[in-house]
Amino acid sequence: MTTIKASCTQCGDVTLVPAQLHLVVSNRAELSSYSFQCPTCLDLVTKSADEDVVALLISGGVAVDRWDLPAEALEAHSGPPLTYDELLDFALMLSDQDLLAEQLRILAT
Ligand SMILES: [Zn+2]
Repeated sequence: MTTIKASCTQCGDVTLVPAQLHLVVSNRAELSSYSFQCPTCLDLVTKSADEDVVALLISGGVAVDRWDLPAEALEAHSGPPLTYDELLDFALMLSDQDLLAEQLRILAT
């Protein structure tokens, strides 16, 4: 059986089997990480995983969860943040289809 040594911040080195690790690989390498529940103190330990660590964990049989950062998260934003009142107005507008259609018609002209 494959065993993997990892390090808990409280307990030091611990030995795990692949099923005890959760590997998340992102399209942004700096966001890839692995986590495990320490078998000694039961803390959840999460650490970043560079390409070498990802390759090592995969070769050890750790299953991969893929997570891609949405492109929208990297867009530049300008203007003031949306207020609660604006969000509430929008929700109310959505509940009134005639008003929403009128607002969209105004925006389209
Ligand atoms: Zn621990």
